[in-house]
Amino acid sequence: MTDTVHKVVILGSGPAGLTAAIYAARANLAPVCVEGGDVASKTDLPGGQLMLTTEVENFPGFPEGIMGPELMERFRKQAERFGTKFVPGRAVKADLSKRPFTIDIHDTMQDTRATVRGHAIIIATGASAKYLNIPAEKPLLGKGVTTCATCDGAFFKNKHVVVVGGGDSAMEEANFLTRYATQVTVVHRRDSFRASKIMLERAQKNPKIKWKMNRAVADIVADKRYLKELKLEGTGPDEGKKETLAVGPDGGLFIAIGHDPNSQIFKGQLALHESGYMKIDHHSRTSVEGVFAAGDIHDSHYRQAITASGAGCKAAIDAERWLEAQGL
Ligand code: NAP
Repeated sequence: MTDTVHKVVILGSGPAGLTAAIYAARANLAPVCVEGGDVASKTDLPGGQLMLTTEVENFPGFPEGIMGPELMERFRKQAERFGTKFVPGRAVKADLSKRPFTIDIHDTMQDTRATVRGHAIIIATGASAKYLNIPAEKPLLGKGVTTCATCDGAFFKNKHVVVVGGGDSAMEEANFLTRYATQVTVVHRRDSFRASKIMLERAQKNPKIKWKMNRAVADIVADKRYLKELKLEGTGPDEGKKETLAVGPDGGLFIAIGHDPNSQIFKGQLALHESGYMKIDHHSRTSVEGVFAAGDIHDSHYRQAITASGAGCKAAIDAERWLEAQGL
């Protein structure tokens, strides 16, 4: 791979990366897509966040809904159909200081390394939800534990769900979930909030939302595959207190403690916001000419598959026009 310089190298195979691949492939740019993910971990799969969700009910074109992994498989087939080449592994190093750009890849499954070079790069490495880092959460992902109310809220009709977090995401998810759940309990590790006043007040006025302040989720108890109860531990002034919060039968735990954009390898090379999200302009351009970005890597606001997909389309068109202007 090292000697070949591809016209476009796409990093990431979520909705943004694969939509960029479909458009770039149909524009005869023969794109190479670095799949991303850490396959050996089993929780960070190529295909992005939808690989960890169950049914997707809000992606247009699927009136009956579609399972997240199946949707991504379809995206991928469509990208392959027009000639996208996939490279397994995740980008672990980028040299954007000179053109063509160089990306080093590590495939954790085979423990092999490769290098790809491209005249243009589309970064669609996405963002990863933050987790509580308690042992029970990852095995229960999609089985009661989730990081996306928009995706999974409707599965908790007439159930008790818990939202962890004290930011705007937690308030938004708590409010949204009251459409379905009989009760929503917000568990927050402090007694003051990072959430904006308006979002907080809306949640506080909602009679279906209850509050557990100065509490952290220490463990999740599941019965077979369904959530039963949460073990809470006091924090700050309530340090040392322990309690059990019943969420069963079939309750939910929504972890809404923020996302981390997967931009680490670009630090120092591309302009990033303080939060790590990538700075781009209206034409998907990053701070380095020839490097474009799409999806959750720059979007901390919408974070939907459909918006990421739209951004991927834009980035491919922007990259194509840029390559054409370069005579490439
Ligand atoms: P955030 O503002 O960083 O808030 C994260 C929350 O999770 C904080 O309350 C934090 O607690 C808590 N937290 C972090 N790590 C934790 C852990 N390990 N255990 C327990 N709690 C933990 O993240 P966000 O709410 O996702 O918002 C991100 C950005 O998107 C913000 O700028 C927000 O305004 C924006 N946003 C806007 C909207 C909207 O306007 N509609 C909706 C969603 C998000 P501490 O407070 O103690 O640190």
